[in-house]
Amino acid sequence: MLNLVLFGPPGAGKGTQSEKLIAQYQLVHLSTGDLLRSEIREGTELGLRAKMLMDQGILVPDEVVIGMIENKLTENRSAAGFIFDGFPRTVPQAEALDALLAHHNTEIRVMVALVVDEDELTKRLLIRGQSSGRPDDQNEELIHRRIKEYNDKTAPVAIYYESQGKFKAIGGIGNIEEIFQAICEKIETATANVRQ
Ligand code: ADP
Repeated sequence: MLNLVLFGPPGAGKGTQSEKLIAQYQLVHLSTGDLLRSEIREGTELGLRAKMLMDQGILVPDEVVIGMIENKLTENRSAAGFIFDGFPRTVPQAEALDALLAHHNTEIRVMVALVVDEDELTKRLLIRGQSSGRPDDQNEELIHRRIKEYNDKTAPVAIYYESQGKFKAIGGIGNIEEIFQAICEKIETATANVRQ
């Protein structure tokens, strides 16, 4: 199985690059943000509780997203691999993901981090907010709160993967296709190392 983590702050381009990676490698896309928004649309109790936090730019509790990922892994046992987008966002989530994948006799091959500075992120998210309708993309203060959550709680996840030799950083500003090619190179290198 080819399991990837696509990592980076809000607005780094994870969703855009995920779509291209899914097409290239036939992976199942697991975005906890999308899964939570679908719970909100369906009006579930989990969705209602998550919405209160998401509307403030705060992370939802680890056990909520870990439970959702666990269900999806079980539902897609025959997948060629998974692309994790917006997950793991805390070190306990990363530890839980390792344990879940080990249970399915597989593991993360590489974690690719898209690096984009805060000014560019803010610009992109405000533009996205005009068309996506996402409330958390339409308010500059909320965008800063999300980036702060990322710096405080999510950035340490990079060190977690670095200690496993799986962390690869890529500049996330520039041509979408060139960024995609750079990601693919990291995946191919990691795959060649596995085969050796
Ligand atoms: P973005 O990365 O653009 O902010 P996401 O769609 O990934 O957007 O996430 C939107 C919101 O959903 C986050 O601000 C957070 O409240 C919640 N969320 C998504 N994934 C997670 C996660 N793995 N852990 C905790 N909260 C999450």
